[in-house]
Amino acid sequence: MSLPLIITFLGTGTSQGVPVPRCACEVCTSTDPRDNRTRSSIYASTPGCAWVIDTGPEFRVQCLRERIDRLDAVVYTHSHTDHMMGFDDLRPWCANDHYLPVYASAETMADLQRTFHFAFSSQALIPGYVKPHPHLIDGPFELGGIRMTPLPLKHGRAHVNGYLFEYEGRKLAAYLSDCKEVPDAVIERIRGVEALIIDALRHREHPTHLTVSEAMEVAGRVMPAATWFTHICHELGHAATEEALPAGTRLAYDGLKLEFR
Ligand SMILES: [Zn+2]
Ligand SMILES: [Zn+2]
Ligand SMILES: [Zn+2]
Repeated sequence: MSLPLIITFLGTGTSQGVPVPRCACEVCTSTDPRDNRTRSSIYASTPGCAWVIDTGPEFRVQCLRERIDRLDAVVYTHSHTDHMMGFDDLRPWCANDHYLPVYASAETMADLQRTFHFAFSSQALIPGYVKPHPHLIDGPFELGGIRMTPLPLKHGRAHVNGYLFEYEGRKLAAYLSDCKEVPDAVIERIRGVEALIIDALRHREHPTHLTVSEAMEVAGRVMPAATWFTHICHELGHAATEEALPAGTRLAYDGLKLEFR
């Protein structure tokens, strides 16, 4: 039995997080807890397995906040710092010489190996270091009975993997955290997904991220049961932005849980 799948939003903020240090804007000074966004990441769990997508700079704080105990694998979207800099805080899950499975594209894995060479080097096996067991993603793979299909996305010069979560042919969720464009083949593949989780940085145009209206346009083609925006910057206040969105389209927030039964 692999359901329920529970997806917890560890973070929903853009690369700088919200609030932004030194900024006194309405959102950065808001008292609404949903306007407090750590760097984007999700935690997925089924009765037999738990994994995280990305480990941003606040990964440790996010784990403490959500009381995360179990972690069987780590999956990366890409190697931008807001998605990988919490890698070293995977240490509690590598105790007693346990090798933690790490899934990433060849390009992202190479960046992880360069940045955290001390963890990947077989000579530097210091007790207590992160011990990654690299799995190069070259197609769909399975975690906890959930089929994870990588979805190649365009995000400036970076190659990003989005992920489709499927169970017995049911398209449960698609996670497209960082993208400027969603290729037709990806839209086709995720059409009718139950939850579309998609980059929606702000209203103003941005060279590497979808705007709110661009994300809504993608959602219009995907036709999901529900759309959740993530990777949000301080130009979007939670309450005011959500009020103006059509039914079924929402802003995700840190700590939000989606359950698939
Ligand atoms: Zn990002
Ligand atoms: Zn601000
Ligand atoms: Zn990025």
